[in-house]
Amino acid sequence: MMMPVDRTDETIFAVASGSGRAPICVLRVSGPRSRELLQHLCGTCPPPRRASVRILRDDAGEALDQALVLWLPGPASYTGQDCAELHLHGGPGVVDGVADALAALGGRPAEPGEFTRRAFLNGRMDLIEAEAVADLVEAETAAQRRQALRQLSGALGELYNGWSARLTELMAQQEALIDFPDEDLPPNVEGSLMAGLRVIQSEVEGHLADDRRGERLREGIVIAVGGPPNVGKSSLINILAHRDVAIVSPFPGTTRDVLEARAVIGGVPVTLLDTAGIRASTDPIEVDGVRRAVAKMAEADLVLLVADASAGSVWLDSDAIPVSGAVLRVANKIDLAPAPPGAIAVSALTGHGLEALRAELDAAIRRSVQRDGPPPLTRARHRSALSEVAAELRGALLETLSELRAERLRLATRALGRVTGRVDVEDVLDVVFSRFCIGK
Ligand code: GDP
Repeated sequence: MMMPVDRTDETIFAVASGSGRAPICVLRVSGPRSRELLQHLCGTCPPPRRASVRILRDDAGEALDQALVLWLPGPASYTGQDCAELHLHGGPGVVDGVADALAALGGRPAEPGEFTRRAFLNGRMDLIEAEAVADLVEAETAAQRRQALRQLSGALGELYNGWSARLTELMAQQEALIDFPDEDLPPNVEGSLMAGLRVIQSEVEGHLADDRRGERLREGIVIAVGGPPNVGKSSLINILAHRDVAIVSPFPGTTRDVLEARAVIGGVPVTLLDTAGIRASTDPIEVDGVRRAVAKMAEADLVLLVADASAGSVWLDSDAIPVSGAVLRVANKIDLAPAPPGAIAVSALTGHGLEALRAELDAAIRRSVQRDGPPPLTRARHRSALSEVAAELRGALLETLSELRAERLRLATRALGRVTGRVDVEDVLDVVFSRFCIGK
């Protein structure tokens, strides 16, 4: 959520632990008056960075709680400001009482994300790390946790900052080409500039062409289960969803609508879509359901095509549906008839082959979210800015006029800066003067 202005001179407080009744509730404070508020509540300010047990009192001297108190002076704190943490007993009477006391002393309830926003403003983290914090708070599975921690540790930021530093260097060369006569410059500046640009451009394009692996893992993937009516699609979804999740939430709708269930498979949150049976029909409602099913299959990250072994039914022709994800073919009802070759043979009724199906599914899901090498792109926000970077670099490589090329590079650098939140085009000047022996 965006706040109109950053009122970082105000001291904010908020419950940092989850909502709902819990034995302990962590209330966090950040801002210049943190120490003063703590002194009022505790009588004296506790020693820094040490857990102290104190009786908290309001202004009238009434005891509010016996709490564990942490005084965390800036700048080495989460937000970079003076901070405090109050580990209160979780009863609403206690928590509200302390919050009221803090407000009476001049504190203000924090806006969503305001602590991390202050951390960013104070240079404690870049935007990518701030987003990683949000992802850690949301992480449902171990795989998501690993990706967010990797991002928080700065792996993704390093990649982007590396490009940024190299681009800045190239911009400096470009500026030098514009501003200084050839004889003052090292030989072949233009050639090495273009070569450097080509390398960065191909690295950015390679990063973008990751098949959305990082975003898929962060957002969860969609598996469409498709096939003719009555082949056992719903039965299979129930089995797959029930095994791995606590909550199965089929969305209510007509029987011909697309139903969905959530599950965790292979460490990745998945949404299983039960699409309407696809067949030629003249019933307008069914035709609409089929149209929707085909659209869902086309968008899905993974498609399970199910057929009925006993009906000798063939799979839908996946060539006829513009499927973008991987396709797994499943022959169900093998308790009634043998499966055709090339299919994962299962029986939803007897449970036969289900382990093999889960293993195949697991492997396909992992393949769709993982890749060795540099950390993957994790957000649409990054993708759109990096697409802009790539487009400007492509443009710069085609540009023959130095001034126009310089402008393209500036736009590329700025777009890259938007990803990490650091836009320091001014650095170019430093690089110009440190790298070139100019002004003899
Ligand atoms: P959907 O229309 O493709 O979603 O299919 P359903 O899951 O609703 O199943 C259609 C019918 O086939 C139901 O009567 C199921 O009980 C039955 N069925 C599902 N799986 C099997 C199976 O493996 N073996 C047998 N014999 N019947 C099955």
